[in-house]
Amino acid sequence: MDLVLGAGIVGVSTALYLQQYGRNVALLDINGIGKGTSFGNAGLIEKTDLLPRVFPRNLGEILYYATNKDPRFHYHLFDLIKLAPWLMQYWHKSNPKNVEKIANYISPLFLQSLDEHKILAKKAGANRLLRANGWLHLSRKPQDLIAAMKIVERARMANLSVSILNGEQIAKSEPLLKEKFTWGIHWHDSASIIDPAQYTKKLYDLFIKQGGAMIEGDARNLLEVKNGWALKSNIGNIFAKNAIVALGPHSGIICKYFGYKIPLAFKRGYHMEYGYKEKSKIKIPIIDADNGFVLAPMKNAIRLTTAVEFANIDSKPTPKQLLKVEPIAHSILDMGERKQKNIWLGARPATSDMMPVIGRAPKHNRLWFNFAHAHHGLTLAPISAKLLAQLMVEGKTEIDISAFCASRFS
Ligand SMILES: Cc1cc2nc3c(=O)[nH]c(=O)nc-3n(C[C@H](O)[C@H](O)[C@H](O)COP(=O)(O)OP(=O)(O)OC[C@H]3O[C@@H](n4cnc5c(N)ncnc54)[C@H](O)[C@@H]3O)c2cc1C
Repeated sequence: MDLVLGAGIVGVSTALYLQQYGRNVALLDINGIGKGTSFGNAGLIEKTDLLPRVFPRNLGEILYYATNKDPRFHYHLFDLIKLAPWLMQYWHKSNPKNVEKIANYISPLFLQSLDEHKILAKKAGANRLLRANGWLHLSRKPQDLIAAMKIVERARMANLSVSILNGEQIAKSEPLLKEKFTWGIHWHDSASIIDPAQYTKKLYDLFIKQGGAMIEGDARNLLEVKNGWALKSNIGNIFAKNAIVALGPHSGIICKYFGYKIPLAFKRGYHMEYGYKEKSKIKIPIIDADNGFVLAPMKNAIRLTTAVEFANIDSKPTPKQLLKVEPIAHSILDMGERKQKNIWLGARPATSDMMPVIGRAPKHNRLWFNFAHAHHGLTLAPISAKLLAQLMVEGKTEIDISAFCASRFS
């Protein structure tokens, strides 16, 4: 049996693909299905981000973000001390030459991401949760179009369908928007999920239907034994030949325990949902690029998600970004009242070199990694799961994933 640690979208997808490649698989989670970061994301399947999200290189920009006033970026001052080496590496890896290299490694995964989602969604009967009509990136700042065009050009070179819209075209495409934007990008080839929690659950149901097992337990109890792994769980001691770490932001703890120091940090983000009114039914998710938030039309509500907050995973929630952008969101769209009592907080697990960790654990033959998908865990879950399953079962993959091996940090 193979044991997948973590039942978020990445773990569940990994379990499904391992089953597809003929393995007997169990999923383990301490907290049920899809209740971690996978619960609260914006639902975007971004077949767009062919360039990694870099650390600013310009001193003026860095100093501006350091004021902690921009809603696109927030940090906890005391956590920064611990985070400083990670941030230095992030800055260093964000040099243009390296960014090009990373983009070449990661782009094939993005380009195949939606196809894999469609295959899984169809099998799991989750088609109606997948809306394949893209999303809109919107801005009021003409000067920012130049930088955005770099991403557009790369996407067009990869044959992605992209439209640049002016203010009138945006208003025509989403007539319910109350504010007039200056320019926008419609990413036609992307998609979105209208209920991320239910989507993970649907994929999980398929896994169970195909003979998979779900175990409640703590991955921190994993022990290496002869020919595999043992773990104490709700059903007693279990034994697995292979263990796969897919614990999202909690993956670092297990890795450290087995001697791997992965430079992981947490790009935290918040969400709140608002009631639908007749005038809030936008057709596709929109990103207010100037303020770094997404308004995503979900199944039963409009979900607002925020950009990046650098803080330890367990530091106190400080939803300042959400409070800052909430009135802006209301001025863009006629939304109803808040639907949740509490503001949701999640942590995007990110490496300092902007690439996920996928592959065999360098010092253990039967330990495998699939985590650190940062901003794109939902997008990349099925394709990274498929590639890891190929590596584990066939020893080779249809896309080269050697750059994502944890050995790059040793
Ligand atoms: C605000 C926000 C918006 C986002 N928007 C998008 C988006 O639009 N598109 C996109 O592609 N990505 C988005 N993301 C990122 C995406 O949500 C994550 O990358 C993804 O959900 C990570 O999935 P995962 O399965 O790796 O981790 P998780 O969903 O966190 O799953 C990890 C699992 O491990 C379990 N676990 C933890 N510790 C233990 C333990 N000790 N023992 C057993 N189990 C344990 C947890 O209970 C959890 O179920 C967003 C993230 C945030 C925060």
